[in-house]
Amino acid sequence: MALRDMYNFFVDATARVGDRYYIVGSDYNHIKNVLRMRVGEEFLVSDGGKSHLCTLEEYQDESAVAVIATEDYQSAELSVRIKLFQGLPKGDKLELIIQKAVELGAYEIVPVEMSRSVVKLDDRKKKSKQERWQAIAESAAKQSKRNVIPAVREAVSYAQALEMAKETDVFMVPYENEDGMKATAAALERIKKGCSVGILIGPEGGFDDREIEMAKAAGGEAVSLGKRILRAETASIAAVAMCMLYAEMNTESGAE
Ligand code: SAH
Repeated sequence: MALRDMYNFFVDATARVGDRYYIVGSDYNHIKNVLRMRVGEEFLVSDGGKSHLCTLEEYQDESAVAVIATEDYQSAELSVRIKLFQGLPKGDKLELIIQKAVELGAYEIVPVEMSRSVVKLDDRKKKSKQERWQAIAESAAKQSKRNVIPAVREAVSYAQALEMAKETDVFMVPYENEDGMKATAAALERIKKGCSVGILIGPEGGFDDREIEMAKAAGGEAVSLGKRILRAETASIAAVAMCMLYAEMNTESGAE
């Protein structure tokens, strides 16, 4: 069966005993009663960022027992962790951004309250939005056959976002007033196996001067994404795609 047609279940590390997974709860119900899988059928089980090719061995009590046939089977993960810090946009634009960023291989998405963000979320809204965004990340991860479900954080303040972003190895700040592609090319070339990449994108209204100064002080590199002004969602998707491309190219076997 082609990998893209194979079912993939995300489980907790505690589900594994030796070379078997004991799948419980809604996944068990799905395997047994919805998919009606039979003993001997194959599927993927993902745990801790790795996917294993498994065969259904038996149903036992309230669990589906899957025995591992091939460990670490065809990983779809980048060897680079892309963290997208996204200025809170209007309406449901962040949903599109999350879906596309996850498909492109992003590792984590952090919504950021910026001075030109029109939307303001109170604590209760922050929690409920985060849950909805996480569910979108999960379905995009499954659809694109990721081996991990990227985390979407609750919206953070700008200062908190910079604290997190400055820990990344390559911290890019696509800025609408930046000219020329030299800095962009230099930053992308630094994306190498095992490194982390932070991308900080403004909301529809862009960055204010103070925010750009703060980002630079935290080690962010202002870069251009080309001569056109992109909408926030286009800018995020384009920036993640560029980083994904360099991550894939710079870590292919043989590449240093
Ligand atoms: N209102 C601003 C545009 C903001 S676009 C203006 O009219 O100038 C929203 C965000 O997308 C920006 O803050 C930036 O992070 C990113 N962006 C859009 N176009 C870009 C470009 N050409 N280069 C770099 N970043 C860009």
